[in-house]
Amino acid sequence: MPYGPAKPCIVVGCPHVGHWPTRQSRCPEHQAAYTKQRDQYRGKTAERGYGNQWRRHSERLTKEVGACQFCGHIGSPDNPLTTNHDRPVSKGGTIEEANTVLCRQCNSRLGNR
Ligand SMILES: [Zn+2]
Ligand SMILES: [Zn+2]
Repeated sequence: MPYGPAKPCIVVGCPHVGHWPTRQSRCPEHQAAYTKQRDQYRGKTAERGYGNQWRRHSERLTKEVGACQFCGHIGSPDNPLTTNHDRPVSKGGTIEEANTVLCRQCNSRLGNR
């Protein structure tokens, strides 16, 4: 038999013990629910492809400019460079409009205008 000994479903409180494929650690019922959930989650992250696009743009811009345009700080782990958006995407701005590089300190100072 390809299946090992009977094993319990890893879902807390699930009483199922049985023979399911080795790579599966849930009973068929929970496995189905898990797969569905995972697919839904994937769908969401794919829709948010914007997040990736934004991060790439922001990384490239930060590299090109290389320093805070307000105070000249070149970025450090505790005060990294960030890109700033005059018009937030939620208000109709586009990714490409983001063209101000600020250190985090300046960004939060100016962002709270
Ligand atoms: Zn289960
Ligand atoms: Zn700065």
